[in-house]
Amino acid sequence: MTGKPRIGFVGLGNMGAPMAENLLKAGFALAVADADPGRLAGLGGRAVLPASLAELGRLSDVVIAMLPDGKIVRKVLCGAPGDHGGGNDGVLAGLAAGALVLDMSSSAPVGTRALGAELAARGVALVDAPVSGGVRRAVDGTLAIMVGGAAADIERCRPILAALGRDIFPTGPLGSGHAMKALNNYVSAAGLAAAAEAVLVGRRFGLDPATMVDILNASTGRNNSTENKFKQFILPKRYTAGFGLGLMAKDLRTALETAEATETPTPLAAACIALWNDAEAKLGGAADHTEIARYLETLIEEGS
Ligand code: NAD
Repeated sequence: MTGKPRIGFVGLGNMGAPMAENLLKAGFALAVADADPGRLAGLGGRAVLPASLAELGRLSDVVIAMLPDGKIVRKVLCGAPGDHGGGNDGVLAGLAAGALVLDMSSSAPVGTRALGAELAARGVALVDAPVSGGVRRAVDGTLAIMVGGAAADIERCRPILAALGRDIFPTGPLGSGHAMKALNNYVSAAGLAAAAEAVLVGRRFGLDPATMVDILNASTGRNNSTENKFKQFILPKRYTAGFGLGLMAKDLRTALETAEATETPTPLAAACIALWNDAEAKLGGAADHTEIARYLETLIEEGS
């Protein structure tokens, strides 16, 4: 590969769309795809819209996936299994040996390792590079990116990652970025739920919620949600942070699977996941993840 790699980008959702914009700004040539044709309109003539995923593969040196989960990443790459076994309608059908797949979705690490072995057999490298920082930092190009894979493959991705993120952390072998991302989101989800519970209790005790958030932010209870989610999205009941509750619940299940795979007892994670799974069942996966506060409020109302 000489010069800038040609990039195929699949998944132009809340995160993928601004990430694709930043790659265009940095001068990369893009071919893009999304299951929802409405998502492609925004790139209006600045990116190639291939007729199929295989065609996107043919046009790419590096394929970036920014999809809901690892099962969908596998489907987009390998195609849906047909009546006679493996399908041929995925990106891999067009991707040449020597190409690289960069999975920036929050996928499950065990599946990533299996996929990596299958791609390697076809001469295609896989790097997992999930991100943190939400839509705001995707737009700013300042995401935190945790990157797993062979050192040489990670080096090949550096110019691309530099256009998308500020903090780029190699985490070790393939799958380690995805494991790190799931564990990060467990800590994030637990912090959000704990703060939401605390604000509900405080309000019943007569404390003012906005004052509580100010005090948490000046005290040891501070976390990303108290700083960036309560006054912005939760207290005004806006719930438009741009990260789906179903995606957060999926990340928590991945964290628990990772705990199980390493035979690590995690009683707090188990309780946290039960809460988020129930919230997903009641509010639907498309709800914003900040609506966990609304769900907790409903529980309290039902209990009183
Ligand atoms: P999203 O739901 O907004 O976007 C996903 C996109 O994938 C959609 O445009 C959808 O149409 C497309 N898609 C789904 N199935 C497809 C298929 N089979 N073929 C082609 N396109 C398909 O999700 P998002 O918020 O952009 O998140 C993407 C990934 O990044 C997820 O793994 C999520 O957990 C992770 N993530 C999200 C955030 C956030 O704040 N939103 C932050 C960090 C990480």
